[in-house]
Amino acid sequence: MPELPEVETTVRGLRPVLEGRRLASVETRRGDLRRPFPNDLRQRLTGARITGLGRRAKYGLIHTDRGDTLVFHLGMSGSWRVDPEEIGKHDHLVLETEEGRRLSLNDPRRFGSVDLVPSDRLDCTPPFDAMGVEPLGDAFDGAYLTDRLAGRRAPIKAVLLDQRIVAGLGNIYVCDALNLARIAPGRESGRIGRVRLDRLAEAVKTVLTAAIAAGGSTLRDYVQPNGELGYFSSDWRVYGREGKPCPNCGATVRRRVDSGRSTFYCPACQR
Ligand SMILES: [Zn+2]
Repeated sequence: MPELPEVETTVRGLRPVLEGRRLASVETRRGDLRRPFPNDLRQRLTGARITGLGRRAKYGLIHTDRGDTLVFHLGMSGSWRVDPEEIGKHDHLVLETEEGRRLSLNDPRRFGSVDLVPSDRLDCTPPFDAMGVEPLGDAFDGAYLTDRLAGRRAPIKAVLLDQRIVAGLGNIYVCDALNLARIAPGRESGRIGRVRLDRLAEAVKTVLTAAIAAGGSTLRDYVQPNGELGYFSSDWRVYGREGKPCPNCGATVRRRVDSGRSTFYCPACQR
């Protein structure tokens, strides 16, 4: 399942193909993914020039000179392909630039989504209107966490997964960041001191940045040989490493399951 680093890697892979280019053709090959494609998607995108690409939480953003932003989410199994050799049954949206470069949005399970939003209203459109700060942005730091966590009794892991506080963090990187910061996942949020929250904010940025860098270095220009963008396996610290040694202290990594979600942590050094 694509997490924030995969989405960032995807956007970086799309940028050189799309930025500044005009779309010569736009083809939807079925009516919907998780929800219907916008009716006028083809009409609004064909002939438009791509002015820039970005990311917000786990959404990719493709801005056009017509004041629209194409917002895509990769769901469980979505990926973009660059110049695919053939268009298959899971390629649901195909864009072609004036230069003849072809991009397809492939999504076998179809939990992804594609929307068109007026660019100047992006921040006040759901889901963006309710989102907290970007974990890699300057606004996310120990001071911000101190402010938002004051008086909260919820476990720190649940708070980091709350998209209204910090947007785009998933289970994998929350487990790894808590391990790097040596904070127990069940620790009551409001009782973590400022020094440890500084360390936690830094740890979140470190694990995400490392995953993005790993994605960029294992894929040449972010594109795999089959043209697929953005998927890579990371060397996680504790996630998926039950029974293996903790990278901090060498003690054994444990797994706990609550409400169907796994938490990986080190009981020896995470307090
Ligand atoms: Zn440890």
